[in-house]
Amino acid sequence: MIKTIISIGLWALLGWLLGSWLGPHAGWAFFALGLVAMILVSARQLMLIQRWTANTDESPPHSVGPWDNILSVIYRKLRKDKHEINELNRHIDSIMMAAEALPDGAITLDDSMLLTWCNKTASEHLGLDLAVDRQHSILNILRVPEFARYARQTDWPAPLLIHLNNDGLEKALLIQLTRYGLGQFLLVTRDVTQVEKLETTRKDFVANVSHELRTPLTVLSGFLETLHDMPPGSLSDEQRMRYLMMMLEQAQRMQAIVEDLLTLSTLESSPSAEGVPVRMAALIHTALQQGRVLSNGQHVFVENIDEDLCITGIETELSSAVSNLLTNAIRYTPKDGTITVSWYIDEQGKACYSVQDTGIGIAAQDIPRLTERFYRVDRGRSRATGGTGLGLAITKHVAMRHLAELTISSRFGAGSLFSLIFPASRVSQG
Ligand code: ADP
Repeated sequence: MIKTIISIGLWALLGWLLGSWLGPHAGWAFFALGLVAMILVSARQLMLIQRWTANTDESPPHSVGPWDNILSVIYRKLRKDKHEINELNRHIDSIMMAAEALPDGAITLDDSMLLTWCNKTASEHLGLDLAVDRQHSILNILRVPEFARYARQTDWPAPLLIHLNNDGLEKALLIQLTRYGLGQFLLVTRDVTQVEKLETTRKDFVANVSHELRTPLTVLSGFLETLHDMPPGSLSDEQRMRYLMMMLEQAQRMQAIVEDLLTLSTLESSPSAEGVPVRMAALIHTALQQGRVLSNGQHVFVENIDEDLCITGIETELSSAVSNLLTNAIRYTPKDGTITVSWYIDEQGKACYSVQDTGIGIAAQDIPRLTERFYRVDRGRSRATGGTGLGLAITKHVAMRHLAELTISSRFGAGSLFSLIFPASRVSQG
């Protein structure tokens, strides 16, 4: 302001001096010219400022006279605000990224339970498409009667378990509603399908173990009671011996089950160790020797064994897998059948241990279930030959711990082929 007054004063002084020399007309004309020049300079400054407002990211124009001070204050404020907005946006982005990365599903609902946002996990859990489902009521999206009842509650101290069937796929979800903000709702979903399955498996397992042990225990205690109740001397030596042999058989049966259970639990609880190179031929020959004793000359054995092929692994585990497959072949192959044991390296460098028999075979529908604990196609036959129903479960665990694959192919009534295929990375030559 002061600058402007001084400028007008200067022009007036110069106009007066010129007027006193060349006459008043010339003086006034000069003064008017000075004022016009000042207006033109101001107009140019305003134009520069107007151009700058279109892009305030750039620093304000220089040489705009009295505007300089005002513009630099505005520019500093603008930069500060912009920085704060950027910081806030960064915070929002990182919160959104964290919400997206949540292992649980998260859905936000407005005060009328209309969907406003959901993360990727929630989309997968409930099959949501945000573009389509936004602003739709969650009660229409999730059409489960239990959920409708749950949503009508005024508070939700505990989560709700619901079961959904998405394209034939059963899913168990834990759902929890909570209030947040100004009357909005947060719906959290958690997939507990695996946890439920594990729980069912655990219950089945306990029931199976109890059942497996109860049968021999009942027989054993029956014999003991009979012996106890018999008057002394009423049994012949031969009868007593027969009873004792039957009791021993049941005790051995329970022992075999407990031993196999312990093996399984050791395999499950110990971390899979790398191991050392194991010469498999030695293990296979030992298993064959024991197999011949079990077969008692009733089967023909064909051997096709690479003597030098080694597998990096744990000898005791490999030995139990090798003999499990061989004893099964003997137990499920009738008299005069042929059992072919092979140990070789294939074209891809994988090592394969296979046991082929000409036995009773397995129906197609039973094959996928053979490695389940206690699963037997024919309970009676398995028991009669001393089986525990855990052999293939153990073998599969051993295979997994050695990165190997257990494959089974069989035809009912025609025989079976069980193979353990080890990856090339575990194979070496002894
Ligand atoms: P088990 O102790 O009953 O033999 P496994 O886990 O070793 O238990 O085997 C599970 C079931 O798989 C057996 O009960 C049997 O029905 C079937 N099985 C295993 N090996 C053979 C085979 N070589 N031939 C026919 N059936 C077999």
